[in-house]
Amino acid sequence: MLLACYELGHQPLSLAWPLAVLSPAGFPTTARDLSVTALDPAEVAQASLVAIAVPMHTALRLGVAAAQQVRAINPQATIVFYGLYAWLNADYLLHGPGRVPLADAVIGGEAEAPLLALAQALRAGDDPAGVPGVTTASQLAQPHLARPHLPVPDRASLPDLTHYAYYVAGGVGVPAGYTETSRGCRHTCRHCPIVPIYQGRFFIVPAATVLADIRQQVAAGARHITFGDPDFLNGPGHARRVAQALHAEFPYLTFDFTTKVEHILQHRALLPELRQWGATFVVSAFEAVSDPILARLDKGHTAADLDEALAILDAAGLAVQPTWVPFTPWTTRDDYLALLAWIRGRDLVAHVPAVQLSIRLLVPPHSALLAHPDAAGWCGPLDAANFTYQWTHPDPGMDALQQAVARYTAQADDDPLTAFQAIEALAYAQAGRPAPPWPSPAGLKPPPPRLTEDWFC
Ligand code: SF4
Repeated sequence: MLLACYELGHQPLSLAWPLAVLSPAGFPTTARDLSVTALDPAEVAQASLVAIAVPMHTALRLGVAAAQQVRAINPQATIVFYGLYAWLNADYLLHGPGRVPLADAVIGGEAEAPLLALAQALRAGDDPAGVPGVTTASQLAQPHLARPHLPVPDRASLPDLTHYAYYVAGGVGVPAGYTETSRGCRHTCRHCPIVPIYQGRFFIVPAATVLADIRQQVAAGARHITFGDPDFLNGPGHARRVAQALHAEFPYLTFDFTTKVEHILQHRALLPELRQWGATFVVSAFEAVSDPILARLDKGHTAADLDEALAILDAAGLAVQPTWVPFTPWTTRDDYLALLAWIRGRDLVAHVPAVQLSIRLLVPPHSALLAHPDAAGWCGPLDAANFTYQWTHPDPGMDALQQAVARYTAQADDDPLTAFQAIEALAYAQAGRPAPPWPSPAGLKPPPPRLTEDWFC
């Protein structure tokens, strides 16, 4: 049995790919996405192996609760976690809380082959601790980074696309599909959870596989595709081939992708082509408008690069959805106010979901941030149950501001301008300064093309 918990509103590829490997190998497999379906105790009771996908922090939080339910229903089942956050938190999953293991095994890196090998070992009655790529309480395996041989994802038994995020442009929503053209990332930004697993490596998914996956999602109603690779332009030639082929076969299809600022600058000549082939918006981790913080995160861009990236995207006709890490141990109150002023000054208020303005840096186990020479000065103990090292800001007011913004974004369902103004009011009140006035009536550019699920991890 495969379980997904939360994948940013997408039909889970983390189920579809293992399904395509396990079922043809003779393992009858049930896949359930708990973000849209309840756990069925009768199904759980029949499972001998329960594999839980945890590609991100929120998914792991939900996955732990699912594992506890599975354990209560079926104590004999072998429980394995896989996906980005599994290996990072293997110690806690295999030993805690209270020395009660949540999992019997954990897989890091490219999961499909170790997952199949684990299923085969269990069927043969072998000890999972001997399976390459599988970490258990008695064996630490490094993330599995052998080049994968990936079949076309098997989506036949997954909930249909109407259960997931829609793509909205000009007030019209259409079902959206999701696929990936690569895995891992060639970059090593210090705060990124991909880095301790992939260590700067990435793997290409063959274009024919990607296109076959798009084809089946279009047949299921998708009229927009999200390329969810950590960075679509890690392999720009590959991305170009896929986008061109997508447009040749489905000229009416739009798509979005994620790429870093450095790549927007480096591959500026490619962006108009991607626009011509259907790209409508780009997600990019801008992170901060402070050069010292960007350097600390080793992002490979400066605040000045952000403006250049905006100009390049604008010239290409691509909307941007910038993502941010607004609260870090190094972010001053002035940095936060400068971030708000930057967003307002570039007329990007409607491009930044309010939740983005509340995000606090997570420092998972194995984070590259921990290797920084001054880490002992700002990093507290590991909060294993919350999958992050603790840190407090040297100015307690910054922690209070983060909590106030997070409380607001969790409860309010305001329009982007009202939400932004409310967050501005919180931040300026805390700084003891009046918020800068808005023209009356305040207006924003029309909302950009977007998905109905705000990006969040
Ligand atoms: S470019 Fe993006 S995905 Fe790659 S390491 Fe940096 S933050 Fe992570």
